[in-house]
Amino acid sequence: MTNDTIFALSTAPGRAGVAVVRISGPLSADALRALARGGLPDPRRAAVRRIVDPRTGETIDQALALWFPAPSSFTGEDCAELHVHGGRAVVAATLAALADLPGLRMAEAGEFTRRAFENGRIDMAQVEAIADLVDAETAEQRRQALAGLEGRLGEVVAGWRAEVLRLRGLVAADIDFSDEGDVGHSALTGIDSTLERLHVEMSDVLASAAHGRIVADGLRIAIVGRPNVGKSSLLNALAASDAAIVSEFAGTTRDVIEVKIDLDGYAVVLSDTAGLRHTEDPVERIGISRARQTACEADLVLHLDDGGSWDDWSPQVGQRSIRARTKCDLAPTIGFDSDTVRISTKSGEGLEKLRALIVQHLHSTRPGGSVVVARERQRVAMAGAIACCERARALGTRDVELLDHEIRAMEAALETLIGRIGVEDVLGEVFARFCVGK
Ligand code: GDP
Repeated sequence: MTNDTIFALSTAPGRAGVAVVRISGPLSADALRALARGGLPDPRRAAVRRIVDPRTGETIDQALALWFPAPSSFTGEDCAELHVHGGRAVVAATLAALADLPGLRMAEAGEFTRRAFENGRIDMAQVEAIADLVDAETAEQRRQALAGLEGRLGEVVAGWRAEVLRLRGLVAADIDFSDEGDVGHSALTGIDSTLERLHVEMSDVLASAAHGRIVADGLRIAIVGRPNVGKSSLLNALAASDAAIVSEFAGTTRDVIEVKIDLDGYAVVLSDTAGLRHTEDPVERIGISRARQTACEADLVLHLDDGGSWDDWSPQVGQRSIRARTKCDLAPTIGFDSDTVRISTKSGEGLEKLRALIVQHLHSTRPGGSVVVARERQRVAMAGAIACCERARALGTRDVELLDHEIRAMEAALETLIGRIGVEDVLGEVFARFCVGK
């Protein structure tokens, strides 16, 4: 029920210096008056207030109170915030006092953001950006989420949608004219050049999706090579931890071990794989087949060799790989070719160069434009709109009824992207990732 007044602890639960309790809905002002003695603060100005339990009159805390009258609030409704001291007992007493007020209830996960969306304060891509900002662990994830929150994707989609609406009008006019016997399609002159421009612009934005996925989920790097070449040692050196098993016995890493690291602000998922060699051991064979699969699915492969022969692994078509000669502290020069980076996890030689090559690869995936498709849901909707655009172009004026259908479908795909239609289908998935208080 959007008319309920909701409240929740918006900061992380547990002991903290300050805890923020958020309230949204028509009874926010009443709730603030009931708990914060001294009257409503001026709008959007923090004021010190004594927080009392209205049931007993007992003082709960000295806190900051804020009042955000509708519509200039996060949710678009009347909102209030109490910045209380972040002790468990203070928070519990404040929440209990609010729960006892008639017409107030605890918010569900993501309910504040949902209200902001339902009241038109933000679009679906911005809802997703808020979730991504809350989850951001690296600098690039934060930058990408913030760019999403600024709403550029919604702005360009709104521009495309306006164009598509104009095309729909032209097609409708053409259908009306043809009813009157005029079959010259004069209303449709120029429609193909508009569709062509839309196609180029949408394809440019869709091209950012690969980088968006890498930033959000991390660049997947598979470390492959023969047993004992130093794969686990390299993973440990890069992760600066002991997450993988390092052993002198060949074939120790039988399954794939993953470690997530922050490399120059980017999330990178390193996979240490079973050594590639011929073996009769059935368990090791499973490990080797998983290693090959991990390598195939990786964004980048670190292919290691320690001066013995290279194994038979070869990259997928178009897949980037970096070849590294390991243990260069033992054999500094032998068998070294120039496209191979020399590394030693014992001396540390070449590790900075290797990191720099990985970062260089990350930068090479950056899109040219500023609008980024960050989520798979957004990518699917964009790809759907582009497919409709392609079909509409192929139809031309041959079948105007079908053209009308494709243009409507393109509009629907764009509306899905920013959450104007199909909302209920995606809301559940999007808000499931939120916690209470967001
Ligand atoms: P993996 O089977 O490919 O994962 O190889 P490991 O990382 O388990 O290493 C195999 C052996 O090589 C271990 O004894 C490591 O200590 C040794 N090793 C790994 N890297 C280096 C290195 O850079 N220099 C030297 N001298 N030995 C290394």
